[in-house]
Order: sequence, then structure tokens, then C-alpha cells
Amino acid sequence: MKILVINAGSSSLKYQLLDPETQQVLAKGLCERIGIDGRFTYKPEGKQAVKDAEVAMPTHSEAIQTVLNALVDPANGVIASMDEIDAVGHRVVHGGEKFAKSVLITDEVMAAIEECNPLAPLHNPANIIGIKACQTLMPKTPMVAVFDTAFHQTMPAVAYTYALPYEYYTQDKVRRYGFHGTSHKYVTARAAAMLGKPMEELKLISCHLGNGSSITAVDCGKSVDTSMGFTPLAGLPMGTRSGDLDAGILEYLMHKHGYDIDQMLNVLNKKSGVEGISGVSSDFRDLETAAAEGNERAGLALEVFAYSVKKLIGSYAAAMGGVDAVIFTAGVGENDPTTRAKAVADLEFMGVKLDPEKNNVRGKEVDVSAADSRAHVLVIPTNEELMIAQDTAALVKA
Ligand code: ADP
Repeated sequence: MKILVINAGSSSLKYQLLDPETQQVLAKGLCERIGIDGRFTYKPEGKQAVKDAEVAMPTHSEAIQTVLNALVDPANGVIASMDEIDAVGHRVVHGGEKFAKSVLITDEVMAAIEECNPLAPLHNPANIIGIKACQTLMPKTPMVAVFDTAFHQTMPAVAYTYALPYEYYTQDKVRRYGFHGTSHKYVTARAAAMLGKPMEELKLISCHLGNGSSITAVDCGKSVDTSMGFTPLAGLPMGTRSGDLDAGILEYLMHKHGYDIDQMLNVLNKKSGVEGISGVSSDFRDLETAAAEGNERAGLALEVFAYSVKKLIGSYAAAMGGVDAVIFTAGVGENDPTTRAKAVADLEFMGVKLDPEKNNVRGKEVDVSAADSRAHVLVIPTNEELMIAQDTAALVKA
């Protein structure tokens, strides 16, 4: 089977054509600056790549048409015709409480996704535009929606309820939803395979540490708690996002500096996190270089981040009554041995111990725990596209 995976943002669109069974990626790339001028990147397997080509993309339709043209191009394409694309899997950020798993897209499903727009006003409308553009260009091809929030719909009320007047939940849908669900689902399934155990016997803590970061407690294959909340601003400090903080700070800073709510949220989303603390960068590589050169604020940013990860690992072990494996994934989790080591330092009391030599690894599936560690520490590169393609293939076959 060949599945086209689409991740549409407001002005960009990532795509991948892959076979979910063999896991072969036939082509992947990116459309950027949609609605501005249009830039196209295309990496076909074994053929010549296109990088940053200027292609007019007034809307998402032209972007997707550009992708399809490239895929079937006689010289540089990877398929003979569009009919070879069995289905399209779309990443959708928010499925609210309506979607606990991936679904085949129908008119009713589209309406239900649109109803979730107020919960993710920056993301869902762009995802919907991507779906509609594909439907117009490929009217006979089945489409599937895969939600970032769906995996977390198994959370119990005790984990998703905020201590606010209850009407804000019943009337306004304010609760913890959680994000990065596709990634957490993928790496926890890989962890079970690596450990050779059924999901039903495992308590896992999945640490997705990238530009955006979240940690999820997965008990018997189900998400039982997660660090992002009503929005992806919650939980850990991130590249530029604050993560959790005392809501009283908002009032204090807004009064003191005369900010309106948009200015305040801009600070929390774009000027905070490790970049805000360090004043250097949101990129952990830059922070490690600066810290090594003696920049104290860069060092502090890295410490605050690792300490926050460690506290969540501890609290999720408490929530589940134990832990069989801690998983590290995404840009930082997969590639940064120092942050991993700091995040699990001193957790031997709960059976988590790293092997410093094994931990010196990047971007590979490896068990990096010490021989005498009761729990495992696993590095597992995430693959959200493969997960989306697998869900899509399963639904289309059914
Ligand atoms: P996104 O949330 O945008 O998908 P990624 O998961 O790709 O982010 O993670 C990007 C981050 O990964 C970068 O900001 C960088 O801090 C970090 N990163 C990538 N490679 C390394 C590395 N070798 N060492 C430390 N950090 C790294």
C-alpha cells in the first residue's frame, strides 16, 4: 500500500509518501510560504531532490497539486500515476472529546472536526484546509484524520479535570486534552516490542522532548496522564514556551507592563522557555555550547528543563504505582545524552539507572539502562508519519 501523509499548517505543508507495511519512504518534503510566494522541497528515494524551489502557491490547493505533480513526474517521480496512492492520512491537531481514535473522513466527520476549531484556532482550520484541498484534487481517494489529542482520550477524569468551576468543563469544554498523542502512541508501541512484552503488562513514561515537549504516563497501553493541557502551552518549559506557571504572574505582569492578553500570550508562547531563561537560543545545541563556554543563564535553562522532566517522571511513576521503562524521543530526547542523563539522575531509588556509555547514542533505538537497573531507559526515534500511515492503512482496509 502507498499512503500519502499530509501535515498542513497555516502557511506550510509537510508530506510523505510511504508504504506502512515495508516502512519504505518513497518521497517526502515540504511546501512553505503558502499564500506568500511558495517554496517547494522534494526528496524522492534514489532520485534527484528539489530544494527550496520557487513555485507559486497562492493556496493549499496549488501546494498539494505541486506535491502530486512531483510524485508522478516521469523523470523524477516515484509513482506512475495518482491512482497508486491508496489513501491520504491527515494530521489533525484537535479532536476534542469527539475523537478517541483515527477516523475515515466523511461529511459528518468534517463537521465534527470544524466544531473543534475553537479549541485549536491556530491549527485545526489549517488542517481542514489541507483536507479539503486534497478532497478536491483526489475525489476518489479515501482520507483519514489522525488526531494529536486522540491517544489521551483514555485519561480518567481525575487526570483531566481542572480545579475550576465545573461549568467551565461542562459548558466550555475546558479540561486537559494533551497533545503529541501520535508520537506517544508510536514510541510506547515500539517500547513494548523492544522489551518483548505485551502492552497490558507495562507501565511506561514517554518523554517527547523537542521544540515542543510533553510527557505521558501510559499504563497497559493507555494514556492515563499527560503534561500538556487544554493547550500545548502547559507542562514542561519548552524551546520558547513557558510551560506551567502561577496564573497570578499573568495579572502581575499585565498590570505592571500594560500588556493586553495577546501581548502576554506572545511572551508565554514565543519568548519564554529555555530561550527566555537563557537569552541565547531555543536550540539545545546552542545552549550546551554556550553553557560550556561559561554562560550561566544557558546552564540554568538546561538545568530547569532537565529538573522539570525529572519531576514529571517521578510524579507519573507515583500516579501509576511504578514504572517499567522511561522512553526518550523527539529532537532533544533522541539526540541529547546530557539532558537524558540529568533527567534520570538520582532516580535509582525508583529503579531507574542509566548506563553512561550506552547513553552516548543519537537517533537510534537503544536500551540505555544500566545492567542492574530494574526499569529500562529507552531511546526511541519517533515516527509520527509512519504511525499516521499505519492508522490510515488499517482503516482503509477495514
Ligand atoms: P519539533 O517540536 O519542532 O518537531 P524536534 O523534535 O525536531 O522539534 O526537536 C528540535 C530540537 O531538538 C532542536 O531545537 C534542538 O534543540 C534539539 N536537538 C536536535 N539535535 C540535537 C542534538 N544533537 N543535541 C541536542 N539537542 C538537539
